[in-house]
Amino acid sequence: MGIGVNGRNIRQGARPRVAVHCGRVQTTQIHPFSSRSTWARITATEQSTDPFDKDTSFGSSPPAIHVGFVSSLPNAAAVTKPFVFTEGCNIASMNIAVKLDPSTLNWRYNTPVDDGGPNHGPENYWEAQQYDAGGFRYFRIAYQHELLHAFGLDHDADDLSFLNYGNRPWVNRPAADMIRPLPADVQLLRSRYPASGSRGEVAVVTTWFGDGEGSNGAANQGTLCAPSTGADFAESMFTTYCGSNAILQTLRQAGASLPVRTNVCAGDLLRTRFAVANYSTDDIEYQAFLYFSRDTELDETEDVLSPSWTDAIDLGDANSAVRRFTFEVPELGGAAGTEYHPILKLIAVSDEAGAQWAATSDWSPLPGSVTTC
Ligand SMILES: [Zn+2]
Repeated sequence: MGIGVNGRNIRQGARPRVAVHCGRVQTTQIHPFSSRSTWARITATEQSTDPFDKDTSFGSSPPAIHVGFVSSLPNAAAVTKPFVFTEGCNIASMNIAVKLDPSTLNWRYNTPVDDGGPNHGPENYWEAQQYDAGGFRYFRIAYQHELLHAFGLDHDADDLSFLNYGNRPWVNRPAADMIRPLPADVQLLRSRYPASGSRGEVAVVTTWFGDGEGSNGAANQGTLCAPSTGADFAESMFTTYCGSNAILQTLRQAGASLPVRTNVCAGDLLRTRFAVANYSTDDIEYQAFLYFSRDTELDETEDVLSPSWTDAIDLGDANSAVRRFTFEVPELGGAAGTEYHPILKLIAVSDEAGAQWAATSDWSPLPGSVTTC
């Protein structure tokens, strides 16, 4: 599936006061009503300054997704409205309306690792929330969600999905690929457009769903806790610290400016939580390893590996899982107080005979950091 969501289709320079129809993304299928419609991809993008109203059907041949910025939207930052949407998942026409009203909402169009301007500087992608620290809302998260609606998918309350609400994940990929459909989304897209080939790919994810009640049939995602010491795991995976370290948790609740760091000595046990996204078309077995790095990039020749790692864990094709694991802290160099970032590495292999791909791996920093004792 070639669903690129890299923001290039959106003309940022055009921030009109009046509603305009400034993006037209055309998808190609063999025919909207043909049983041979087994694939779809965006083949052309056109821009227009024609008036845009989300309730206007712009026609359906060839199938098209019409993206427009509008000055007001009741109760939403972006919505998708279908027209002539036929059973069998053939898209005829979809309108995505995005609210452009700086008095109530500012979009941030780039990624967390980019500079977003004064008060909107680079952020750690593995800790980024739905809004950046300066209060701008990350556009790509909302746009990915709406694009999946436009391809016929509904809200998801039962899986890790871009059709959840809340802090959906950026993963360790080049900028254009950091926001990508999650495995449950990919599985639905593949079931609708089954011409796709096989794939072997995993990602470390630092969000999970179930943080609060959710709404409109969409579960709410939250950012997973920061690795920390503690006698046991904190009950919720969404607390600030993963360990049931009462002092840390209490301090954090009392003062928001406390850095999310925990002081560790060699031999201490670090409670961690992480999620694994298996985009693969095969069941996999994966193992998780924890490195301690002076920066936020994994360098296996310099970074210090924990002496603990997980057993091989099974995960089905197109599935995600959240795990907790206790890693022993290795001997770390540097003076007392030296900061290290916990970086989780996954190595996965296919669990199926005749797999079309070799072992695959991924890594990402986990939230927070630790300091040496
Ligand atoms: Zn939605």
